[in-house]
Amino acid sequence: MNSNHPELLKNLEKHGLRATRARRLILALLNEDNGHLSVEDIIQALRAKGTPVSIATLYQNLNALVDAELLKRIKGPDNLVRYDANLAPHFHIICKKCGRMQDVKIGRNNVLADRPVDYQTGNKLLDWDIHDIKIEYKGTCPYCKG
Ligand SMILES: [Zn+2]
Ligand SMILES: [Zn+2]
Repeated sequence: MNSNHPELLKNLEKHGLRATRARRLILALLNEDNGHLSVEDIIQALRAKGTPVSIATLYQNLNALVDAELLKRIKGPDNLVRYDANLAPHFHIICKKCGRMQDVKIGRNNVLADRPVDYQTGNKLLDWDIHDIKIEYKGTCPYCKG
């Protein structure tokens, strides 16, 4: 996604954020290519594109974008914080060799329709309110499989 993409600009304004150059660049980068990038990855990628942003500016804007719920802060396989631009509920598959992290869907609507089952009794947990779920697949990505 180009950093002047109308959807990016609209989204920033809708969330009460001015569409500054840094914010547009960061969002465009993370929307591209299903990225789950660390701060270091983002700095390097922006530099490589010839659009460098200072570390202080980057942190400040990442915080603003997370607060505005335009980005999610997640933990990568290395326990490093990464940023995810996919705001819909989704799950991840992670390469154990290179740390590549991709979004995956589960089931028809990406929703686990069934309640979890108590390990010991085998009963469905009907009396729990479930707020969140985390599933991670781990494996070797096609690039590392060589
Ligand atoms: Zn890999
Ligand atoms: Zn994701």
